[in-house]
Amino acid sequence: TPVIVAIDGPAGTGKSSTSKAVAAQLGLSYLDTGAQYRAITWWMVTNGIDIDDPAAIAAAAGKPEIVSGTDPQGPTITVDGVDVAGPIRTQEVSSKVSAVSAVPEVRARITELQRSIAASAANGIVVEGRDIGTTVLPDAHLKIFLTASPEARAARRSGELKGADVHSTREALIKRDAADSSRKTSPLAKADDAVEVDTTELTLAQVIECVVTLVEE
Ligand code: C5P
Repeated sequence: TPVIVAIDGPAGTGKSSTSKAVAAQLGLSYLDTGAQYRAITWWMVTNGIDIDDPAAIAAAAGKPEIVSGTDPQGPTITVDGVDVAGPIRTQEVSSKVSAVSAVPEVRARITELQRSIAASAANGIVVEGRDIGTTVLPDAHLKIFLTASPEARAARRSGELKGADVHSTREALIKRDAADSSRKTSPLAKADDAVEVDTTELTLAQVIECVVTLVEE
């Protein structure tokens, strides 16, 4: 059966860079599940849905059509045919995605999509997110849980955001992790059978090598 690798952990641990590189190196597909939650959040914002109204979010959860391209060399994401790769990375979407993704109807919809993408990846797949090892794909062959100190995570993220203030980035990250970890449905958590990798003192190349070795074992 095609190999399924689940990579979970909070923001700023190098999840996306690691997952893409491991998939490319091993010839596997790649799915960024955070991009899917960001895409549905972008649609809610664009269509004037009140983010503070879970019932309104639940009622609209089935409307947008979200399509993910799973080539690790050039992953894509569209909503109703519109390329949203840029718009889903704005601060506005980042600050609203936790609230939208806490709504059970949203999670049910996106989880179903993720399972069907994983099931149709004939060459195997690396799936990165928050609840992949615990909820979406509990039978994954390998589960990785990436961690890093809050300082390291904020520094990496503000590097990505080019010039963003480390302090406010750190506050925003901590707030998002707390929301992701405390929600009732599928909170961010390490699966019992996941391998925890603390990336604080590791380079990206070291983390990639560590995960590739674990997949090949
Ligand atoms: O991975 P990224 O930081 O882009 O994820 C954005 C947000 O999407 C997370 O903060 C979380 O609220 C949500 N998410 C989720 N479950 C996943 C992946 C992401 O709830 N599997």
